[in-house]
Amino acid sequence: MATEDKSSYIIVGAGVFGVSTAYHLIKKYPHASVTLVDRDAYDADNRVAASWDWNKVVRADYDDIVYCRLALEAQDIFKFDPLWKPYFHETGIYWMCRSDYAQDVINNYKRLGRTADLAAYPIEEARKLYGGLFEDADYTGVKEVLINKTSGWAAAGDALRAVTRKALDLGVKYHVGEVAGLLFDRDSRCSGVRTAGGDVLMATHTVLCTGAYTPKLLEYSAASSGLTDLRAGSRIVAGGITTGMTKLDDESYKRFASMPVGVQGYTAATGPFIGSLPPTPDRELKWWGQTIFRNTREVLPGRFLSAPPAEPDYGQWDVSRKLKEDIDHANKVFYGKNGANWTMEKHRICWDAFTTSADFIISPHSAAKGLYIATCGNFHGYKFFPVLGKYIVQMLEGELSPELVQKWAWDRERPQPSVNPDYPRFEMADLLDAKRTSKL
Ligand SMILES: Cc1cc2nc3c(=O)[nH]c(=O)nc-3n(C[C@H](O)[C@H](O)[C@H](O)COP(=O)(O)OP(=O)(O)OC[C@H]3O[C@@H](n4cnc5c(N)ncnc54)[C@H](O)[C@@H]3O)c2cc1C
Repeated sequence: MATEDKSSYIIVGAGVFGVSTAYHLIKKYPHASVTLVDRDAYDADNRVAASWDWNKVVRADYDDIVYCRLALEAQDIFKFDPLWKPYFHETGIYWMCRSDYAQDVINNYKRLGRTADLAAYPIEEARKLYGGLFEDADYTGVKEVLINKTSGWAAAGDALRAVTRKALDLGVKYHVGEVAGLLFDRDSRCSGVRTAGGDVLMATHTVLCTGAYTPKLLEYSAASSGLTDLRAGSRIVAGGITTGMTKLDDESYKRFASMPVGVQGYTAATGPFIGSLPPTPDRELKWWGQTIFRNTREVLPGRFLSAPPAEPDYGQWDVSRKLKEDIDHANKVFYGKNGANWTMEKHRICWDAFTTSADFIISPHSAAKGLYIATCGNFHGYKFFPVLGKYIVQMLEGELSPELVQKWAWDRERPQPSVNPDYPRFEMADLLDAKRTSKL
């Protein structure tokens, strides 16, 4: 059990996992020493965090009942708590399902005793809804369309900044710096971190909320400490996904301004779900693509793993032609002729950490006392922002329910990647433009 006077916390990574942890810790222990460390300032114009984005889907439409329950808990906060409310838009969701997903979601709501305006529609009925916005979508293989009017999206980067500011107001410290390695005492207990700039930060608890960078940081720390069991191994894989936006003209904006979130759901055999988010106040409509890829490199002599590109901004704005075509494809399968004349802008590659089961890892690290892992958003972690920290604090204090301890464990049996439609299936090197490939 943590006590205010003895415990101190370094949280590496100020995305939703890290910021939510800092916020919940400082609310519980107002006098505790809690420090967020991130390579980017929280209010920087450009950040590498997956959590830093124009918008993210906020929904409880899960076939997994645990995430359905947690997402409902988080969504209630998005909907009613004054800190979060300004960032949530309850636009509804329109989900083209190629499996029993719609029925599974409806059943989960029932099992949890939640009533909401959600139903499964036959295709012909669904495509006429919302003024026919999805009339020309690709319905090949679709069984039915799930419409949940209580789902929506959040202004992701704005909410992240606001909650970080709130945590700082409450006493959390924020240190800008790249963590180069973890520090250990003689008993192999993690005692803090060392930054690339030479700063040493010490704490009783070090929590890695480092997203896609986690395997590389653990690899470096294993090399510098000699504690080889620190390595993530096959537990975590860094995966990249492309997003793209179009700025709607007046006429299209009128038509699409109050659209729901769109999702094209596929099966594990065919590929990941892809999505389209309603326009932002700047009238920008967004998609994410279907190609999820690793970037496997030799990060130390003889050590290969997937990590975001080594540039300080993860090379996130350097998007190849093939990946831009991924967004053109997404446009086509959502809007067909209705989006045929739109110009694509603002492509970005976003990096997240994946497990084969699509579960988070929220767990003590078994190779070193004082070290904790809280990340692996698996392309769906943002929506849990309001409650992640609550569960991470429970983990730090050994109070997580046995069900969640097992689900989010560092060491557990994991399924084959083939059962996870979102698991990275491509290599970035195969997707680059010719001039970049030749430099590899
Ligand atoms: C394209 C895309 C679309 C998505 N859409 C949705 C959606 O609609 N809804 C949803 O719920 N989820 C969505 N997700 C998933 C969600 O964004 C992520 O799961 C979540 O944001 C991950 O949060 P995180 O805190 O683990 O990592 P991040 O947000 O990536 O934060 C990690 C932080 O760690 C810092 N860091 C890493 N290494 C170091 C180091 N060595 N030193 C210092 N700092 C370091 C980074 O700078 C970064 O700020 C999407 C993800 C992507 C990529």
